[in-house]
Amino acid sequence: MNTYETDILIVGGGSGGFGAAIRAARHNPDAKILLIDTMSKLGGTSTVGGVNNWEPGIGGPGVHYELYERLSQQPNAIGVGKTVHFYKPEEPYGLSVIDPDCPYESSLRRSALPRDQWRRVHFEPDLMADLMLTMLTEAGVDVRLRSRFKDVRVEGRRIVSVVVQPLDGGEAYEVRSKLYVDCSGGCHLAGAAECQMAFGEEAYDLYEEPSAPDTPAPIVNGTTQVFRASRAETAGVDPLPEEAQSPDVQAWLAANNPGTAITEYPNGDLCLNVLPTMQGKEFHSMSYEEAQRVGQARVYAHWHRMQTQYGFDHYRFHSMFPLVGIRESHRLVGRFVLREQDVRAGILHQEHADEVIAFGDHALDTHGERRVKGPKLGELEQPYGVPYECLLPQEYDNMITASRGSSFSHIGASSCRLSRTMMGMGEAAGVASALALQQNKLYPDVSVAEIRDILEIPAFIEKIIREWELET
Ligand SMILES: Cc1cc2nc3c(=O)[nH]c(=O)nc-3n(C[C@H](O)[C@H](O)[C@H](O)COP(=O)(O)OP(=O)(O)OC[C@H]3O[C@@H](n4cnc5c(N)ncnc54)[C@H](O)[C@@H]3O)c2cc1C
Repeated sequence: MNTYETDILIVGGGSGGFGAAIRAARHNPDAKILLIDTMSKLGGTSTVGGVNNWEPGIGGPGVHYELYERLSQQPNAIGVGKTVHFYKPEEPYGLSVIDPDCPYESSLRRSALPRDQWRRVHFEPDLMADLMLTMLTEAGVDVRLRSRFKDVRVEGRRIVSVVVQPLDGGEAYEVRSKLYVDCSGGCHLAGAAECQMAFGEEAYDLYEEPSAPDTPAPIVNGTTQVFRASRAETAGVDPLPEEAQSPDVQAWLAANNPGTAITEYPNGDLCLNVLPTMQGKEFHSMSYEEAQRVGQARVYAHWHRMQTQYGFDHYRFHSMFPLVGIRESHRLVGRFVLREQDVRAGILHQEHADEVIAFGDHALDTHGERRVKGPKLGELEQPYGVPYECLLPQEYDNMITASRGSSFSHIGASSCRLSRTMMGMGEAAGVASALALQQNKLYPDVSVAEIRDILEIPAFIEKIIREWELET
């Protein structure tokens, strides 16, 4: 098997992986960086998974500003949207449309705001993916798409190498890297290296989270097959595919009648995110291909209902997104686990507040089955941060993670998973990698204060305290 040597290997080019690659390359231009992803485009869930919007939320001082600025210079690429239709039981959907009068800054807060002030960022996925590739190529990152990591070799506290399989033909090859960044969503590299992982709801006794159930259960946040519809000149209804007519699918629709989060693309098409199309536990009990097939049949049936009952007959089905939207799967149990009480305490009072490297202020929210105490987890009063140790596995010193599967409890992850938070974590992982190489250190020994200074985290926190009038 051929061997390829590099300084930093990033597995996964979604929000976390992009953030990691751009920061590592810009902070250490001499580093040799390889990024691999199974898909044919960058962006992961935020592009090929169809989650083509950044929900309202604190973004942190990150590269998201640059993505927005650069995409704004292209026609019909990105815009800031506001909700013009809120969910109601008789019309179970929310609709967010682009409002040219909304500045980007208005999308950067959710906590403690009334919902009519929430603003989100809607974008064209292919243009976002292309821009990510352009930026990484400009920065000198070697991006290899349609390439899957499959095996890992370890020695003591180090990852030694991984095997990469090109998906469009060609021999598998070994990659030996000094450092490894796991941005694969469900932290597959950490899992393969037998790091301690978690799946599902934790019991109260484990972390004493106020809303945790008394016993653990393999219940994870629901999954969604996101799809796109295009505006049509005349009213009409798409033919209902045979698989959507099956009794199972129709029974699912009758029993669930799920709501849909809809965002308008800059060209007037719609992005539809049914909440959810499958219980998380159900999804993870099937093969990916089978779960995708069932999810797609449900989506067709649901779309038929939207066209015939909720007034969407001036749109036609356009396409399914190739990657199923997975909100939660395996999570790392790292050096520190972000829990409900950290999220609720907020950036000024949470544990390890002085080691925060990324931010979130999205509601604690799960879709589908849940057993948390109380009717729902709900909105937050203030933003919180992700401490650096949430990225670090307990078992290895030359691996870091930056993904929705980093070290959060099930409840912590229900807030933390948003794209801009993942990108911020990736940026911290990228800076940590750049510094580790420059200083001949491993991840646990890199100065968190230095990472924070480079990312301008302390100045950002001061700004938020001042502008959001947070109580210190
Ligand atoms: C349906 C849904 C709706 C959501 N809504 C919103 C929203 O409105 N706004 C918001 O901000 N966030 C939303 N989120 C959350 C957010 O989109 C995700 O949590 C976030 O994008 C995850 O980023 P990531 O980098 O951790 O993972 P991903 O973006 O999933 O990236 C992981 C990448 O790793 C690659 N990969 C996996 N395994 C391998 C392997 N073995 N080898 C190589 N590559 C591999 C994958 O192809 C993928 O590109 C939503 C999520 C879902 C699923």
